[in-house]
Amino acid sequence: MDSRERYRQVLTKYRSNPTEPGGDVCWSPELECAPRSRLREIQSDKLVAAVAFLWDYSPLYRRILAQVKLAPSDIKSIDDLYKLPILRREHFVDSHLAHPPWGDYSPISQSMWSQDGWLLFTTGGTTAAPRPFRMTRFDRDMAAWLFARGFWAMGVRPGDVGSFITNYGPHIFFWEAQQGLHHIGCPVIALGGADLKRRIDFQRNFPATVLGATASFALFMGERMKAQGFDPRESGVRILFNGAEPGGCVPATKRRVEELWGATLHEWFGATEVGPSGHSCVFEAGQKQRPMNLHFIEDAYIVEVVDPTTLEPVGEGHDGVLVMSGLYSEGTPFPRYLLGDYTRLTTSRCECGRTTMRAIGGMYGRMDDMLSIRGSHLYPSAIEDVVRGVRDISEAYEVVIEKRDGQDHVTVRCEPRPGIPEARWAEVVQTVVREVSSALEVKVAVELKPYGTVSREFKAKRIYDLRKAKG
Ligand SMILES: [Zn+2]
Repeated sequence: MDSRERYRQVLTKYRSNPTEPGGDVCWSPELECAPRSRLREIQSDKLVAAVAFLWDYSPLYRRILAQVKLAPSDIKSIDDLYKLPILRREHFVDSHLAHPPWGDYSPISQSMWSQDGWLLFTTGGTTAAPRPFRMTRFDRDMAAWLFARGFWAMGVRPGDVGSFITNYGPHIFFWEAQQGLHHIGCPVIALGGADLKRRIDFQRNFPATVLGATASFALFMGERMKAQGFDPRESGVRILFNGAEPGGCVPATKRRVEELWGATLHEWFGATEVGPSGHSCVFEAGQKQRPMNLHFIEDAYIVEVVDPTTLEPVGEGHDGVLVMSGLYSEGTPFPRYLLGDYTRLTTSRCECGRTTMRAIGGMYGRMDDMLSIRGSHLYPSAIEDVVRGVRDISEAYEVVIEKRDGQDHVTVRCEPRPGIPEARWAEVVQTVVREVSSALEVKVAVELKPYGTVSREFKAKRIYDLRKAKG
């Protein structure tokens, strides 16, 4: 049998409860509450089929395997996972540069895609040209099912109405999330490129109950609504979900969003190269004394945490960076992709009943954004937690690190909340300096900017390490 057909068959075989939920708590209870040995069997089957498919259809992956003298017949089960090299972003960047405009990594060719395709997604292009990924109709259906399962875990039910207040852009996340809401039966309000004012008008006239937004944008829009006399707590929204930035698992951010909206903030985790892989559940979202943990959809992903330097696996409960094998789509079936987000894993059973692995406290930031300041290491999410914990400043902030006179200097740029008179700005600066310096044990300077002038874009950059730019 053709390896593409075989891969699709294996993925389809394990799609339990493909169209209807199988329980009140879990959409696919057989998968989400499966014994861990069963999850491993499913991962094993999918991994073997994915490697054979990539060997036949992805020139890049075939080269990578050939370099380490591996053939598909060497990957007989998940026990052979560690033989496979870890894929890095540079593999895709180099392939893209050498073979424009598509690169030669995708197993989905132009002719396959133009006959059986769904959408083209690109990765963010902050440090290299955006890399394209062609997704098929099969991928759309798989993503709809995975997102429906995650939304079900968050408590989204038929009767809910969805809306996405952050612009979709070319990123995969909201496009797939929309399919997931439809899979449950929930309609979605199409906002297109509406500006903030129209988005607020839409919420007033056609109230949505489930809002997709980055946490930063949800805070911005909520403050604007309040300023216009439309209390977000009266807007009908009961669930918000964050993605693309770590907000939902940062306690101060979660508290801010939930207080402002009178709703529960949930979290999705994923990446273009691997797909929608982690989500919160009702039990985790109810935790107020600690950061939320995120479930991985383990029947569709193999999750590893490795040492950032040696790339060797670290044990359960130890800090390291994420490596994931996305086993849900034809467009991105890549084993062992280095995502580089810091986290820790646990396989203990969640109170919600799921047996799937959880990321303890979600993701703390990416390898590239990890800061070393005067010898101490700082996770970006730790900075966010402290900054957003200061009540008198808005949700938007930037951190700039520079080297002057051989010393690291940290500046936090932030804005006072609307309504704080200028006479109090000096006092606000003092508060931020005190809170950040004491919590992070780093001396900082604070620059206050007028409200609304610091970026709140989707995937907005918040940390500017100018020491790196100078090499
Ligand atoms: Zn749970």
